[in-house]
Amino acid sequence: MKKYYVVDEKRKLILTPYEKFIRSVKRCLNTDLISGLAFIINETLKRGNSATIKYPMEKIKLDNRYRAVHRLQRFIESENERCIGCGLCEKICISNCIRMETKLGDDGRKLVSNYSINLGRCIYCGFCAEVCPELAIVHGVEYENAAEQRSYFAHKKDILTPIDNLINQVEFEGAGSLRADADDFVKVTPNYYDVMKARESEASISNSSDTKEDKTNKEAKDV
Ligand code: SF4
Ligand code: SF4
Repeated sequence: MKKYYVVDEKRKLILTPYEKFIRSVKRCLNTDLISGLAFIINETLKRGNSATIKYPMEKIKLDNRYRAVHRLQRFIESENERCIGCGLCEKICISNCIRMETKLGDDGRKLVSNYSINLGRCIYCGFCAEVCPELAIVHGVEYENAAEQRSYFAHKKDILTPIDNLINQVEFEGAGSLRADADDFVKVTPNYYDVMKARESEASISNSSDTKEDKTNKEAKDV
């Protein structure tokens, strides 16, 4: 809504130095000034009210939509790499910074033998993630990529999700990503049940070994 200011046309013009002095004193003793100062002091002394963080000791948690250094994803159930080497990301990249090498695998299928991104040229536009039909290349939240040289490469081994960290693989929720209820449309394969069964038995074994360890520690303490 537009704000209108009322001009007091009858206001007496302050001309003499004495009048100016009196006006300054009045303004200084105004309660608005004191209450403003009290507010500022209160906010300054409040605990945990800092708008800044102590970087690099402290870091803020970034959203999944943040477009930082890329990640190459795996399938959760089969642990295979999602990238099929179609080359769409390489073609769409407006900075021409993606390079990939493919070869024929032992099983007769195309294999991505190497994949690199020149992070010095990348402008983090997200086109590669958006065009990828397999949701294989996505943006991660790793933003600390300062380097001594401008041409700084992320190679496949750096950005591919390690198998032991697969459980923490996070999907990019930005443009081109899967919708939130995408899992409801996927039919699980027999392989899924095998993998889940194996993981459950591994988890139960590790849990039981943990319990045994706890018990032993407790007994040792009691002694
Ligand atoms: S984010 Fe943009 S510039 Fe960077 S690799 Fe992907 S398409 Fe290329
Ligand atoms: S668009 Fe996706 S699947 Fe195709 S080569 Fe790039 S990362 Fe691999």
